[in-house]
Amino acid sequence: MKRRTLLQSLAILAALPLVPACSRDWAAVNTSNAITVTPLNKPHEAWRAVVSAEAYKVLFEEDTERQNSSELNHEHRDGLYICAACYLPLFESAHKFDSGTGWPSFTQPIAEHVGTKRDFKLILPRTEYHCARCGGHQGHLFNDGPLPRKERWCNNGVALRFIPKDEPLPALRS
Ligand SMILES: [Zn+2]
Repeated sequence: MKRRTLLQSLAILAALPLVPACSRDWAAVNTSNAITVTPLNKPHEAWRAVVSAEAYKVLFEEDTERQNSSELNHEHRDGLYICAACYLPLFESAHKFDSGTGWPSFTQPIAEHVGTKRDFKLILPRTEYHCARCGGHQGHLFNDGPLPRKERWCNNGVALRFIPKDEPLPALRS
């Protein structure tokens, strides 16, 4: 009997370190830094079955959605903006701002979760950026944003999905 009590006590002690992990606040668990991004190297064509035709054109053919067409222009709740293809969190609501351009805009992405490249589609070079995990095109980076960073990450709303703070993040898609 005594032995069993001792074993039970040990079991409780062993479980104790889990308690602080469960009580971490939402931001610490859900943002960024917890996720190490490993590129998927999945053929673009393979995403066609899981995203809308409109999202596919933007994400994997670098199309640009129509100005003012995204509901996310009017999204002001706390939460995370995740890649519409692979669900990697790309932006936090705290960094969203109203740029007046008609596209959802942010002052900074979640570090390491987007990659950039030069784009010469409009003759003048622009900085294109994309999801660091699936490679899906998200938008373009401009240097006319608010201080102090002066960055404007101009995103296609259709390439993102908004997850309010009180909803669990969906599992990453592979
Ligand atoms: Zn992605």
